Amino acid sequence: IVEMKKVYKRFGNLTVLKGFDYTFSKGERIGIVGKNGVGKSTFLNVLQQLEPADSGKINIGDTVKFGNYSQTGLVIKENMRVIEYVKTFAESFPLANGGSISAAQFLEMFLFTPEKQYTYLQSLSGGEKKRLQLLVVLFQNPNFLILDEPTNDLDLPTLAVLEQFLSEYQGCVIIVSHDRYFMDRLVDHLFVFEGDGVIRDFPGNYSQYRIWLKEQERKTVPPQR
Ligand code: ATP
Ligand code: MG
Repeated sequence: IVEMKKVYKRFGNLTVLKGFDYTFSKGERIGIVGKNGVGKSTFLNVLQQLEPADSGKINIGDTVKFGNYSQTGLVIKENMRVIEYVKTFAESFPLANGGSISAAQFLEMFLFTPEKQYTYLQSLSGGEKKRLQLLVVLFQNPNFLILDEPTNDLDLPTLAVLEQFLSEYQGCVIIVSHDRYFMDRLVDHLFVFEGDGVIRDFPGNYSQYRIWLKEQERKTVPPQR
C-alpha cells in the first residue's frame, strides 16, 4: 500500500536514508528503534511525504489514509469542550462487526468520563491532552497508523487501552518507541536504525533482536582453548 524505492535523505552531513527499499502491506506491525537523532522521525515524515526525499520514489496507494501521532503535534487552543472537539474529526468509529461507536463511546473507551468529556480543552492536564490527541488520530479510522513515541506521557491504564486497540487493529502500523515492553507485545518486525543510513530489517520483536545481537557479539569473541 506504500512503496519506497531507493529513497535517499540527508541533512547536511547526516545520512538518514541511503537507498531505502521497502513495500508496506496491510496488517504489518513494524517497530523502529535506534539512537536519538539517527533519523527515525525524519523517516516517518519522508514516508508520508510530509518531508521531501532527496531522491528515489515513494508511491502511496489511493486507499491509504494515514493516522499520524507524534509528541510534537499537539496544539489545542480552541475554546471548545472535549466532546465537541472530537466530533469535528469524525462522526463515529466503525467496528469490525459492521457496527459503529459514537464519539462519546470512543472517549469513554479511552478513559474520558462523561464529566471529562464536557470540560474545556484548556483545562485538561498535559497527559490528558496527549491522550486526546492520540484518540483523535485513532477515531478517524486510518488504515496506516504511524505512532512516534506514543507511550511517553501516557499512564498505565491508557497504555492498556492503546495496547488492546492496537492488538485488534487491522491496518498497517509503524511504532517508534524506546519502550521495550510495549514494542515486544505489539510488533513482530523491526527496522533498526544503526546510523549513517544503515537500516537493519529484523524479522522479530525487540527482545528477539537483543538476543540476536548478543549472539553476534559472542561470535566475534575468539574461541577459548
Ligand atoms: P529521537 O530519538 O530523538 O526522536 P530521531 O531518530 O527521531 O531522534 P530525527 O528527529 O529524525 O531523529 O532527526 C535526525 C537528525 O536530523 C537530527 O540530528 C536533526 O537535528 C536533523 N534534522 C531533522 N530535521 C531537520 C531539518 N529540517 N533540517 C536540518 N536537520 C534536521
Ligand atoms: Mg524522533
